[in-house]
This record gives sequence, C-alpha cells and structure tokens, in this order.
Amino acid sequence: MKKYVMELVMSGLLLVCFLLLSRQAAQVSGNTKSQGNNREVIAVDPGHGGGDPGMIGVDNLKEKGINLEIARKLERVLTEKGYRVVMTRKEDQGLYDPSALNKKAQDMQRRIALLEEVSPVLTVSIHQNSYSDPSVRGPQVFYYESSQEGKKLAQAVQEEMNQKLLPQRPRQIKGNTSYYLLKRSKGTLVIVECGFLTNPEEAELLQKEEYQQKVAGAVADGIESYLNSRK
Ligand SMILES: [Zn+2]
Repeated sequence: MKKYVMELVMSGLLLVCFLLLSRQAAQVSGNTKSQGNNREVIAVDPGHGGGDPGMIGVDNLKEKGINLEIARKLERVLTEKGYRVVMTRKEDQGLYDPSALNKKAQDMQRRIALLEEVSPVLTVSIHQNSYSDPSVRGPQVFYYESSQEGKKLAQAVQEEMNQKLLPQRPRQIKGNTSYYLLKRSKGTLVIVECGFLTNPEEAELLQKEEYQQKVAGAVADGIESYLNSRK
C-alpha cells in the first residue's frame, strides 16, 4: 500500500515537472521567434576602396571615401533599429589581393562571394554618381531589371530619399541589366547613388556629416518600410 502511494506521488510530481518544462519551452521559442524577426541580416556594400577611387568629382573628391562614410552611418542606424549588419568593407581598401592581376574583377567577385556566404535578406550598395553636366544632381536608386523584389526595395528607398532629402528635381528608380553586382547577386540588391559628385552644391553636402546622416537615415527608413511590407 505504501509503495502504491509513493508511485502515485512520484507520477504526480513528474506530471507537474513536465507541464512546467513544456510551458518554459513554449516561452523560449516565443522569444527567439520575436527576436529573429528583428535580427534579419542586412548587407551594406560601400562601393570601391583602396586603389579604386570610384568617380572623381569636383575638387578631386573621391567617391570611395563618401561611400564609406555614409555606409558606416547606415550600419549604425540599422543596428540601432535591431538589424544585424554585415559590411563588405570597413576600411579604405578593396577586397582584392595586392598581387591580383585584375584587381577590379577580383574585388567584385569577392563581394559577391561574401554576400553568398552571409545570405542577407537584402543588400544595399552605396555609391555616388557623376555626369558631364554639373547641374545634374539628386539621389537615384538602381535595381536589377527583372527583379520584382529589387524594384520594390528600390522604390521604398527612393521614396524615403525624395521625402527626406528634398532634392530639387526628385528622381525615379531605374532598372539596369549591366552592373556586375546587380547581375550577379542571387539575393535582393539595390545600388543607391546618393548624389552627384560633379554637382558642386551636392558634392559639398555629401561631405557634411549631418547630410550623410540624413542620407543614411532615409536609406534605413526605406529598407524598413520595404521589410515591413513583406510581412
Ligand atoms: Zn561607384
């Protein structure tokens, strides 16, 4: 009789333990789920770097430096919003070996290889534009012509940039089939041309911390609105 009571108590205890554990497990999986949504990986690609200066604007202004400044600010804003950010470069250097015969080709291939490894939910490549007519200015976002997601992301980023940076003549997104990164990226990727380094006023703005921060904020808001629209 005593043994029977003990068995009953033990099985009761086991049942309570089981219930407690399963409740805890449900809570844990709930937590990781909500955390997972905010921890999506976004890749930020500051164009050019090292021996490749990119476009040369007024007063010998080099694109590579402005790209990195804006990309770093974008990294910070996105991290503060709760995303995980991977940068293709963090210094003034390309992704090529100094001994490479074709540094540009190796640099581009390595950017694509890195993106494939990281497999981000989206990639934003930061660049600056140039044109023979110095009056041309304003941000513009490019996407791979046959990518529907790329087009949506480009549209969301362009809208935020037009709203927050108030360009004199707002530009529209543009499809492209020839840029290497757009062609080769397996995931969603857009190229953000933040402005024209050949326009003296815009070139001056793009060198200012405050304006760079504004650009980064607009791009980040565009990314967020695109991601929210997918949920
Ligand atoms: Zn560029």
